[in-house]
Amino acid sequence: MSRSAHPAGPRHADVMSEGHYLAPADDLNVLDEKVWSRTVTRDEHGAVTVGGIPVSRLAEEFGTPAYFLDEADFRDRCRAWSDAFGPGADVFYAGKAFLSRAVVRWLKEEGLNLDVCSGGELATALDAGMPAERIAFHGNNKTVEEIERAVAAGVGRIVLDSFQEIVRVAHVAQSLGRRQRVQIRVTVGVEAHTHEFIATAHEDQKFGIALAGGQAAEAVRRALTLDGLEVVGIHSHIGSQIFDMAGFEVSARRVVRLLAEVRDEHGVELPEIDLGGGLGIAYTSDDDPREPHEIAKSLGDIVTRECEAAGLATPRISVEPGRAIVGPTAFTLYEVGTIKPLEGLRTYVSVDGGMSDNIRTALYDAEYSVSLASRTSDAEPMLVRVVGKHCESGDIVVKDAYLPADLAPGDLIAVPATGAYCRSMASNYNHALRPPVVAVRDGEARVIVRRETEEDLLRLDVG
Ligand SMILES: *Cc1c(COP(=O)(O)O)cnc(C)c1O
Repeated sequence: MSRSAHPAGPRHADVMSEGHYLAPADDLNVLDEKVWSRTVTRDEHGAVTVGGIPVSRLAEEFGTPAYFLDEADFRDRCRAWSDAFGPGADVFYAGKAFLSRAVVRWLKEEGLNLDVCSGGELATALDAGMPAERIAFHGNNKTVEEIERAVAAGVGRIVLDSFQEIVRVAHVAQSLGRRQRVQIRVTVGVEAHTHEFIATAHEDQKFGIALAGGQAAEAVRRALTLDGLEVVGIHSHIGSQIFDMAGFEVSARRVVRLLAEVRDEHGVELPEIDLGGGLGIAYTSDDDPREPHEIAKSLGDIVTRECEAAGLATPRISVEPGRAIVGPTAFTLYEVGTIKPLEGLRTYVSVDGGMSDNIRTALYDAEYSVSLASRTSDAEPMLVRVVGKHCESGDIVVKDAYLPADLAPGDLIAVPATGAYCRSMASNYNHALRPPVVAVRDGEARVIVRRETEEDLLRLDVG
């Protein structure tokens, strides 16, 4: 699909709420490789297949709704990121995008590091055998118990997010007889989202310590005096679903300025700089994300240039992509239930899931695309809104898209690019049973997170 002015002027069905028009793709049966994972294609019967398995078979075996994750694509993306950054830099997969034991094993095998932001994520990482030194622990309000577990496990770094935490982590480390490697998370006054960034964003947010007003410098000053801490670097994370590198450029420049200040004041050159995650992916054909090697080159050049200007040795760079690794690797498969045409408006297509398996549309007004997956069709395009089965009118999965007009109950439709922040943000709203995640690779499919059952729900309800 493309969002462009309609050549024949607005037709009622094309008028979008944001004031632009959504034109149907020339052929709705074609799967745009930008939004689908690498092994997805249509077979000779027209069915969408992943890892060589048609969706009809997957639906029969695993039910719907379900997330199908293309393991080969996941591993490819891990390799693309680590190859792009090379041995002189570190790639941390942001576990909050989607974490399971299988994912941890894949990351370990592909040589990536892992970001966690809660005790639960840390437990998953350790249980699946991720070496603790390859784990970084984030979060603006880690509990003392979480900090104790992380330090005791020997995590490679803890990202300090506040003045209280500097003292807390130092205290825990000292009482355990450790010296914990830490980075200090700063807010650089840059906010980046998709194609825009603001370089003078206010510091009015819960994360990090502001560079403004010398607060970050003060944090470094205090951390350097504490025996329990080894301050290894500065951390900054500026947004999500970012395509434009300009925000990273401003952020890197400001972080390097702090490194120079630290050197001038303390005679210490901090060896690491973490520029966070937030790299964008294609949710629809309109999105054009950059390749990891372009991003690596761009970030490397910026940091090298700024450090040369400041007379600093170039620090070791790390990045933390979550969405950019797992997002494109999975699609959600739904069965069409009811179809409600509204003359002159659009057709509402209800599926057997909804905001409980994909909250992003309701929460962020996110855009997704959708395709008829169980078959092809030569019918006319019909403007649809794909909605869920929840008791909530904002329960929308795909706001505006085209599906063939002969769509019928029982058809399977697939929403691509749901690998990140869908299962990990899934809920039990309306006592929905959270869908399974099924990994598919080379003609084999296996459940890596099983479907919830009513027994699971009732087990927590202790009467
Ligand atoms: C969320 C987050 C990430 C990952 O963001 P993506 O948009 O998934 O790449 C990385 N680092 C930090 C600190 C985060 O909070």
